Amino acid sequence: MRYGGNTTCVEVRTDDDQLVILDAGTGIRELGRSLVAHAGGRPIRGEVFFSHAHWDHIQGLPFFTPAFQAGNQFTLWGSPSLERSLEVVLRQQMSPVVFPVAFDQLSARMEVRELAHHQHSGPGYEMQTINVRHPGSALGFRVSPTSDPSRSVIFIPDNELDRDGDRADAASSRDALVDFARGASILIHDAMYTGAEYMDHRGWGHSSYRDAVDFAIAAEVETLVLFHHEPDRSDAALDEMLALCHTMVEERGGSVRVIAAAEGMELAL
Ligand SMILES: [Zn+2]
Ligand SMILES: [Zn+2]
Repeated sequence: MRYGGNTTCVEVRTDDDQLVILDAGTGIRELGRSLVAHAGGRPIRGEVFFSHAHWDHIQGLPFFTPAFQAGNQFTLWGSPSLERSLEVVLRQQMSPVVFPVAFDQLSARMEVRELAHHQHSGPGYEMQTINVRHPGSALGFRVSPTSDPSRSVIFIPDNELDRDGDRADAASSRDALVDFARGASILIHDAMYTGAEYMDHRGWGHSSYRDAVDFAIAAEVETLVLFHHEPDRSDAALDEMLALCHTMVEERGGSVRVIAAAEGMELAL
């Protein structure tokens, strides 16, 4: 009720107000309403980057109001490492068997593209990506303002930090991940499980909050945002988890600030 139950969607605004969206889980429905409300009839343009194509990261797109309005324009970026291209998956989730409106019937201009390299530049921002450990493969992102590359937000919504987890894909090593996240202002990272839950879900591609805190301390980030909460977790249980994280940081002598992602939360770089 307090932290929110929508699935993954994060809005990033550059200094000159360009729109970057990270993942299109059910949270993008609420984002769409807010974009339309603030656009005042002007066209909405933006880029949407997909960490991967699991349901909880794509299923909001058919309910994204701006996609149904002519004059709007979105570029949807997928990873070339997906087993099936993002475009195929997005079209399938809007096939007539499961959804009444086809992808091609969307009135906005929707262009699906593949990130060619682990480097990408957009208006007002620079982006790097990294392969993480998650079934079917997934990406992590590092986004910085062009004007100040020393400030950055890292977005790694789904990743199994424990190296004994899923060995199936070409995931980056922990050292490479720590380098990727090093010194970030904000690290948004998978912290789905408790330690006990994790032991029952090895290979599912998610991390325990303890592993996320360890990782944040190793990468010397300023703020860790616990993300991708277990869907059945109550607000009270999340508060408890957060308190345990704070104790853990104190015990390690770390300086990272730990918070838990909540719907509508806004953070400045
Ligand atoms: Zn996933
Ligand atoms: Zn997920």
